[in-house]
Amino acid sequence: MSWNSIIEDHYMEMLSNIRETAIATTDQCNIKCEHCLMMSGPSRKEKLSYLLMKRFIDSLRAKSKLNTVVFTGGESTLLGEDLFSIISYCSSIGLGTRLVTNGSWAINNCATEDMILYLLESGLNELNISTDDFHAKEVSLDCVRRIWKCAKGRGFSAVILGVCSGPESRVTPQFLETFLGEKIPYIYDAMGNKQIPEPNQDGTVYAISNTGIAPLGRGRHL
Ligand code: SF4
Repeated sequence: MSWNSIIEDHYMEMLSNIRETAIATTDQCNIKCEHCLMMSGPSRKEKLSYLLMKRFIDSLRAKSKLNTVVFTGGESTLLGEDLFSIISYCSSIGLGTRLVTNGSWAINNCATEDMILYLLESGLNELNISTDDFHAKEVSLDCVRRIWKCAKGRGFSAVILGVCSGPESRVTPQFLETFLGEKIPYIYDAMGNKQIPEPNQDGTVYAISNTGIAPLGRGRHL
């Protein structure tokens, strides 16, 4: 057996076990966080079309146990219709979906309700809102609060606040609990073990994904 066929067999075996994939839909972002892993910002123009994402999902699904697609970026909502369409497509073929967003679109209650409705009607399952000291320099925490309130009891399977913090951070998981006026379960325990909290009475998991700052991408000097 040649090295090439050993590597190919290993690759196909790895591929066949994939259950979740993340698609960086665009490198463009309307803000430019100091710690951005993807080095995203307003000057980046790279983005994927609906057809490219569909082709990738179809091809991966045919070779794997894929059950969840995560849409991240950059800021995926900048894709507009292409984002809603690819979420709808995933939903139509039975794949779960998660959107990671900086929440900058929640500029007032109307805009927040509109986006939440678009996402729900597209079939989105999980909504992740990224917020921390770096995001908060450009996206007001009021946006985060509007989304958190508006997404409550709407039928998402999970609404998660992604918080990246360290010992000197202001926006920490504890800060957000005080800011939002409620106790919110954390996804990682003190040892860094992942635990998914139980769903609330309305069937949705509400939680804070409490991770540390990682020295990667634009944040490698932090
Ligand atoms: S919002 Fe996210 S994608 Fe945009 S610059 Fe900040 S970390 Fe990067």
